[in-house]
Amino acid sequence: GSGWPLEGGTSGGFFMYHAENNQAFVGLIVDLNYANPYVSPFDEFQRLKHHPVLKQYLEGGKRVSYGARAIAKGGFNALPEMTFAGGLLIGCNAGTLNFAKIKGTHTAMKSGMLAAESVFDAIKGGCSGGKQLESFNTAFKASWLHDELYRSRNFGPAMHKFGPYLGGAFNFIDQNIFGGKLPITLRDDHEDYAQMRPAKEFTPIDYPKPDNVLSFDKLTSVFLSNTNHEENQPCHLVLKDSSVPLSKNLPLYAEPAQRYCPAGVYEIVESEAGEASFQINSQNCVHCKTCDIKDPAQNITWVTPEGGGGPNYPNM
Ligand SMILES: Cc1cc2nc3c(=O)[nH]c(=O)nc-3n(C[C@H](O)[C@H](O)[C@H](O)COP(=O)(O)OP(=O)(O)OC[C@H]3O[C@@H](n4cnc5c(N)ncnc54)[C@H](O)[C@@H]3O)c2cc1C
Ligand code: SF4
Repeated sequence: GSGWPLEGGTSGGFFMYHAENNQAFVGLIVDLNYANPYVSPFDEFQRLKHHPVLKQYLEGGKRVSYGARAIAKGGFNALPEMTFAGGLLIGCNAGTLNFAKIKGTHTAMKSGMLAAESVFDAIKGGCSGGKQLESFNTAFKASWLHDELYRSRNFGPAMHKFGPYLGGAFNFIDQNIFGGKLPITLRDDHEDYAQMRPAKEFTPIDYPKPDNVLSFDKLTSVFLSNTNHEENQPCHLVLKDSSVPLSKNLPLYAEPAQRYCPAGVYEIVESEAGEASFQINSQNCVHCKTCDIKDPAQNITWVTPEGGGGPNYPNM
């Protein structure tokens, strides 16, 4: 489903999967091109669970896990060069998810199969490594994967450019009548971070308090992600300029990291003397990569932490 609770130009949609042992997976996808810095995807998700359609399944249940992940859904138009000397970018590393279906498992698998076949052929042909596997590009272009991604290339840009109604109508015609082969290509030509507007243009959103039945707070949710990081390691959330959060992001955007991070990693804390500081609780990070994408100053770089740390999702 799509729409509520997202409003004011913020788009996205929710899903609910029924699983074995009477379990349900419920989630909300929030497009990261939203403009309002007061939007909190975590709190939108908490609101969502109160909708009668979901409530009927969730009420009386027990929260067993929590997680968050940015979905690479730029699709065909956003695919990078997938080959480089000695390596290949495949699956969601490259961005092979089909946004029209919001499905990326079959496409990631196919890109992996094409990669394996190219590597196998190269080794069989005497290659000892370090080469750029052009054969992968040829195989990719000839595959159903390329065709599927090409046909869905307009889906996301149409929604972003024309909105859900006109964009939906365009997509209906493009997908169902022309099979994704309309002779035009729409593109998303603005980065998600650049779409954020100054806080003074909006009113802070008053999210309801969690009822601890259907909705919960961030910290107890993060606990259920089983995220874990070895202590005594450099912070894996690297600021290019440590002054930016307080000098730029706070006055301009009310430091949106406090809200877009679904794990409460970023906090503005005030000392007793009333002095503000920017605190990074990196041990809480659930590796969603939203900060790397959405920070309006592009000042945060997510790097792989030491020791294989991160969330540990059961049943996934
Ligand atoms: C909430 C959500 C719901 C989704 N629902 C669907 C759906 O219903 N159907 C569908 O088809 N697709 C769905 N997708 C998309 C799908 O999950 C992805 O497209 C798919 O998993 C991509 O596969 P992948 O192998 O490329 O990457 P991943 O599945 O992300 O696998 C990458 C692996 O690499 C590991 N890794 C990362 N860094 C390192 C490192 N430094 N060292 C070692 N290991 C590392 C990760 O832990 C991970 O296990 C969904 C995605 C999300 C986030
Ligand atoms: S710190 Fe960044 S990657 Fe980690 S949970 Fe928060 S937004 Fe996601």
